[in-house]
Amino acid sequence: GSTKSAVLLSPDNVLDLFHSVDAFLFDCDGVIWKGDKLIDGVPQTLQFLRSKGKKLVFVTNNSRKSRKQYAKKFLSLGITVHEDEIFSSSFAAAMYLKVNNFPPDKKVYVIGEDGILEELKLAGYTGLGGPEDGKKAVELKENKLFEHDKSVGAVVVGLDQYINYYKLQYGTLCIRENPGCLFIATNRDAVGHMTDSQEWPGAGCMVAAVCGTTQKEPIVVGKPSTFMMQFLLQKFQISPSRMCMVGDRLDTDILFGQNAGCRTLLVLSGCTDQSTLEDASNHIQPEYYTSQISDIYKFLGP
Ligand code: PLP
Ligand code: CA
Repeated sequence: GSTKSAVLLSPDNVLDLFHSVDAFLFDCDGVIWKGDKLIDGVPQTLQFLRSKGKKLVFVTNNSRKSRKQYAKKFLSLGITVHEDEIFSSSFAAAMYLKVNNFPPDKKVYVIGEDGILEELKLAGYTGLGGPEDGKKAVELKENKLFEHDKSVGAVVVGLDQYINYYKLQYGTLCIRENPGCLFIATNRDAVGHMTDSQEWPGAGCMVAAVCGTTQKEPIVVGKPSTFMMQFLLQKFQISPSRMCMVGDRLDTDILFGQNAGCRTLLVLSGCTDQSTLEDASNHIQPEYYTSQISDIYKFLGP
């Protein structure tokens, strides 16, 4: 991270940032919405940036939905976003397998929700587990072995509301009994806004459970890992120095942007407040900070 203190975005410095970037990468929760509730002034701001020719990209660590499902969520909030402009950690997990030539005849065990299964399917992979296995109970009996599919070559772990002992045993056996099995984490967020009024356990605790049983560390594909950024840069062919990452979390969003050499803007509309930003224990300083993205529109709009 940078040691230089973040600068408050203002009508005086916003133009410099605005003219020096071609694309804005927006984190979703805490920036666009909180849970299912839109943050004030977002549609007008996005519309304004588009009208000025800026490329918009949306990057979320929440793996519960696929890109298609996120496009629907945007639409339900009155914002038109194309699937191709969305990078979710569920999509990143599928793309990681694709980029690394994971063989389609091998299966993927999912401790996670529908979004991951849908992205795997779209990428041509067979996913097992998911919400379905949330209904399964284990039988702990002498001489009864827990069965698992030996053709599983990767375990993907993301947020899972339906995590249980069955899935933990399944994923653990896949990884422990097959030394070549990949262990992929969509993200390691401690908490997330499952509802707009409260934070809930995030994927970090599901990932930690599997780290605990396997004594292995996962490949993380979500923010702050550079995987999604590399993929995104290749796709859009924009220089990182001409992109601005806008997020509400220092150790995922801002780090993600800084790791790639992007400009960074922290918004205080999500999980970080000004005192956290200014606290001596914080070593991640964005270039700019502001209360919410609609400030960009407020400073530059009509
Ligand atoms: N993971 C979960 C389960 C969440 O609920 C959230 C936010 O709602 C996130 C991760 C973080 O998402 P984002 O990267 O869009 O802030
Ligand atoms: Ca966020």
